[in-house]
Amino acid sequence: MKITILHAGYCTAPEHIAIQGGAWKHIHFPAMFAVLEHPRFGPMLFDTGYSQRFFDATRKFPYRLYRHATPVTMREDELAVHQLSTFGLRPRDITRIFISHFHADHIAALDAFARSRYVYLPHAYEAVRQKRGLDALTSAFLPDLIPADFDERAAPVDVHAAIPLPPEYAPFTRGYDLLGDESVIAVELPGHAVGQMGLIVRDEARTYFFVADAAWQGRSVTEHRPPHPLANLIFADPKAYRATLTDLHTYHQSHPSAEVIPSHCEETLSRLAPK
Ligand SMILES: [Zn+2]
Repeated sequence: MKITILHAGYCTAPEHIAIQGGAWKHIHFPAMFAVLEHPRFGPMLFDTGYSQRFFDATRKFPYRLYRHATPVTMREDELAVHQLSTFGLRPRDITRIFISHFHADHIAALDAFARSRYVYLPHAYEAVRQKRGLDALTSAFLPDLIPADFDERAAPVDVHAAIPLPPEYAPFTRGYDLLGDESVIAVELPGHAVGQMGLIVRDEARTYFFVADAAWQGRSVTEHRPPHPLANLIFADPKAYRATLTDLHTYHQSHPSAEVIPSHCEETLSRLAPK
């Protein structure tokens, strides 16, 4: 499988919120997405980053508050569809989009891929699908980002099909073999959002563990440094968040050559982006 790590747009937030002991300066939170080109299942995405639709969906109150809380910058040429075209991929070529969770910066370009199936943990969507107005906003969910034909294209993970993972995935013991060939293994990473899903994939050289927002900075995982306690206000389950971060730290220590990739860590993404 060929794996390409990109981002579409970024927001800014104080570093000391993202990681304990961070500076009092604003840093970039790039919105990562990844292209997984599978020899049999074709090109697939992990999340989508921002898109123009984010700006449309936050034009009116109360959703406008989202933009104020996390000011977003996005260049036209950063859109997922534009970047894919430089790899010779058209939006219709994307067979699946693995959705880590339903926060706006992960799903803003879902509607740009007219033929993709949407793969996610069902409780992640159940937790937000009915939310509107301030209730949606406080869950970082923008209902307008859900394509009109979402339900027809939805391919939620069968949670009854969880498999015990071999010791090489420790401390993660349960996961989902999303394509049935062990090439894309999903694990639940609870805490940040209900039903957040991480992916473990491999190319010829190494293992990549996409952990979405289970950590915001690579150093949170390597140094076991959680965000500022204020961040607990926006987490679905702060206690579960800490347990997940501990598991990721343990995983990193026992798999030092594996790349653990938080979706918004500028250092990690620039190191792994195509040169
Ligand atoms: Zn999130």
